[in-house]
Amino acid sequence: MTTSIIAASVLFDRVESRVRSYSRSFPKLFDRAEGASIYDASGKPHIDFLSGCSSLNYGHNDPDLKAALIDYVSADGIAHGLDMFTRAKEQFLRSFERHILKPRGMDHHIQFTGPTGANAVEAALKLARKVTGRTNVISFTNGFHGVTLGALAATGNGKHRNGAATPLSGVTRAAYEGYFGPDIDTAELLDLQLSDPSSGIDLPAAIIVETVQGEGGLNAASSEWLRRIQAIAHRHDALFIIDDIQAGCGRTGGFFSFDGMDLQPDIVTMAKSLSGMGLPLAIALIKPRYDIWKPAEHNGTFRGNNHAFVTATAAIEKFWADGAFEADVARKAAYLAQRLETIADEHGLRVKGRGMMLGIEARSGEAAAAVCKRCFDDGLIIETSGSFDEVVKVLAPLTITQDQFADGLDIMEAAFAAVMGSRRAAAE
Ligand code: PLP
Repeated sequence: MTTSIIAASVLFDRVESRVRSYSRSFPKLFDRAEGASIYDASGKPHIDFLSGCSSLNYGHNDPDLKAALIDYVSADGIAHGLDMFTRAKEQFLRSFERHILKPRGMDHHIQFTGPTGANAVEAALKLARKVTGRTNVISFTNGFHGVTLGALAATGNGKHRNGAATPLSGVTRAAYEGYFGPDIDTAELLDLQLSDPSSGIDLPAAIIVETVQGEGGLNAASSEWLRRIQAIAHRHDALFIIDDIQAGCGRTGGFFSFDGMDLQPDIVTMAKSLSGMGLPLAIALIKPRYDIWKPAEHNGTFRGNNHAFVTATAAIEKFWADGAFEADVARKAAYLAQRLETIADEHGLRVKGRGMMLGIEARSGEAAAAVCKRCFDDGLIIETSGSFDEVVKVLAPLTITQDQFADGLDIMEAAFAAVMGSRRAAAE
């Protein structure tokens, strides 16, 4: 039986919590998806430049990931396994060690933290506090680390913080690179504050940072600034945590967003595209000397999603066993940058971000929302980010075909022209 879209939306309005969000921007009933296409219930395809907020970096239902999962389910593979040893977990750990950790000279332990990104952040912050015996954590302006209370304390986003309804404690905010403009060295400021016992900032257990702020408006830190932040963390005996939940898994090029930057984070959090198919799976990578958990001290029922292990393994084997995928992502990122620069130039705007995590900063949140709405009407799903939701953010699947990528960007270009008007046309 097919429900009409109207009947379905009446049901959602009646039964689902008011807290729902993405369905408000994209008020359609979605049914199936393949690659970079997501089809509504009437069969209309949409190009997906949201990719489950970067949880579908390899597109929807990648055929090899899907086949691996179908084979596993058909063979009665264990679906849920607490954190027991399973064949699926063994294969995931083997692949992750071989293709991800070893080539980068990393020997981090892998903690399964519970399935969401916020779970991984909670575990990372808790462990850093346990290791150092300190409570304070430094996070950055416009950072986003999740909405559970511990992670939310580290998150800057006002809308989410206002939902806490309780004081958010244990975190001090520092300014991200460029926050006060190009002339203020925010790393230097942070170092000065931490070096002064009377600055009022308690020495932190950790400094947590995104290399590109996904929700915070696509602010991309330089490798130099990140290296200085790492050095500042270590100089003050704090752990350096990179939250790679959104920028990792190829989104900015390499498997880790800090590949090639000469950074050695003490803890790395990952989730979103780790399973490769949108299945919940999150980890914290921990330098062995900091892995001081006692057995079961940080626990949780859902830390053994074997279906996610199967698809994560298939994703690593398919995309990360050699450099071909990374080279393809770099090529697509260059194309994306060139197309967005053209649109931005046309309207006197600027492009932000890095790799396949780029966007255009519109003049206001209203303008960005109008662009996204126009895109959606024309068959493109795309969202905003930033303090005022002013950045139109492209999170296309990394596997998108060139033709579909061009089609999606054409829709975006037309939407900017419709909303902003054409400067060229105005001049003529
Ligand atoms: N950290 C970063 C950088 C994120 O972008 C997000 C989600 O967008 C999270 C943490 C939280 O992940 P989740 O929504 O799975 O809890």
